[in-house]
Amino acid sequence: MENQNQHHAAPTWAPQDPGYAEEVAAFNVATTHTPDLVVGAESAADVAAAVRRAADQGWKVSVQATGHGAAVPVTSGLMITTSRMNGVAIDPASGTATVGAGVTWGAVVAAAAEHGLAPIAGAAPTVGVVGLLLGGGLGPLARSHGFATDYVDGFTVVTGTGEVVTADRVNRPDLFWALRGGRFGLGVVTEVRLRLVELASLYGGNLLYEGPHIETALRAWADYTTTADDRVSTSAAITRFPNLPVVPEATRGRTLLSLRFAFPGDASEGERLAAPLRSAAPVYLDRLGVLKAADIAQIHNDPTRPGPSQVYGNLLSDIDQDLIALFLASFGPYADTPFTVAELRHLGVATQRDVEDGSAVAGRSADFTCGLVGVRQELFDEAMPAAAADWTKVAEPWFASENNPNFMGLPATAERLAAVWPREIGERLEVVRKRYDPLGLFAAIV
Ligand SMILES: Cc1cc2nc3c(=O)[nH]c(=O)nc-3n(C[C@H](O)[C@H](O)[C@H](O)COP(=O)(O)OP(=O)(O)OC[C@H]3O[C@@H](n4cnc5c(N)ncnc54)[C@H](O)[C@@H]3O)c2cc1C
Repeated sequence: MENQNQHHAAPTWAPQDPGYAEEVAAFNVATTHTPDLVVGAESAADVAAAVRRAADQGWKVSVQATGHGAAVPVTSGLMITTSRMNGVAIDPASGTATVGAGVTWGAVVAAAAEHGLAPIAGAAPTVGVVGLLLGGGLGPLARSHGFATDYVDGFTVVTGTGEVVTADRVNRPDLFWALRGGRFGLGVVTEVRLRLVELASLYGGNLLYEGPHIETALRAWADYTTTADDRVSTSAAITRFPNLPVVPEATRGRTLLSLRFAFPGDASEGERLAAPLRSAAPVYLDRLGVLKAADIAQIHNDPTRPGPSQVYGNLLSDIDQDLIALFLASFGPYADTPFTVAELRHLGVATQRDVEDGSAVAGRSADFTCGLVGVRQELFDEAMPAAAADWTKVAEPWFASENNPNFMGLPATAERLAAVWPREIGERLEVVRKRYDPLGLFAAIV
């Protein structure tokens, strides 16, 4: 660590310093960042000082909270890590949370649950609040409640000129609009204020199917989505569970379809709404029932330990039985695929309604997400990119015209990134980026 004389200076590490590797380490361990300097910010003032230092040195600025979004390595410049800015304050009277830039969704879910409240969060408890919000944020309650960023009341941000500013409906509404879905090139968020919803429990969880029942259940789910109740959010994932001791015995070494279900209402109605899925085919494991809001991460059961991963993703404008046939042929239980998880999430209703004052969210027109996740590092260089390209070739007719930065994954090309937002949003974002980051300090990182 650098010798710090000033009382308030944040810890910094250069590549040769002990602790550097730990500080830049990402949740996705396949990505190794190597910035010229990493600053462990503890306050907005630390962030502002780091941004001004980068501007003086001619360095680009990158930000890392958890490294869930680390698809490509940062190889130069100044990295600001936010994990020390980990305050969570719940105000039960106004039903809001004030959250530091280093906080993960699991911490907000736990703190809110003590008051019978819940944030509209992503699926995984270890993902960073700010990183997910900047891309929009789709979670288990997507159709009933919309994108996570629809619940933001305001951000505190350090701009590209090193100023600490507020972005909300009254102050800098252009920046507020852009931060809700515009993802990069806008500044470093140091704090966010979120509206919570009253939700102590829900009817949620997942139904697992195996072998030949996977096709029957997946096809039934696709039909189910065409008439699904507006308050029900579902998704389908075919997972090849590794044969490792860390994997629970019931799923270890098996290929299973998980139909995830979330209904933020009472149990008897939830049970009735889930009945067509439950009876579609013999269920291998039934993990669907009354769920405490504090346990909402159990719906997707995403991994919470760091590991290597590659993600490929698109949004779909629709699905039908032809698309399901292709999905099964590519990722079904009898397919030869390098991917560990192939997932479809049903969107619509609340995700397709923009907030009153507008937002830069990409993906409001889509009906589904389609994500492929690989964890076997020996397949990263060739087999996965090739299989993803094959999938694009056959599934492209179903792809939506827009994508979403939280789901697009690889390949992280400028062309793909530019095509994420509908043109009108993309052009407006460029104007806001130039206004708040005139030097272009904040790198476009997928
Ligand atoms: C297991 C897993 C599950 C996921 N589930 C979902 C899901 O259900 N829904 C969904 O929408 N997405 C999901 N994602 C995608 C995730 O939302 C994005 O990868 C998100 O960017 C991760 O944010 P992070 O802070 O955790 O990661 P990081 O890698 O630390 O950050 C990612 C990017 O966010 C930006 N960023 C982070 N903090 C700040 C800040 N304070 N100021 C400015 N920019 C910042 C930076 O550009 C950074 O490069 C998932 C990802 C994984 C790996």
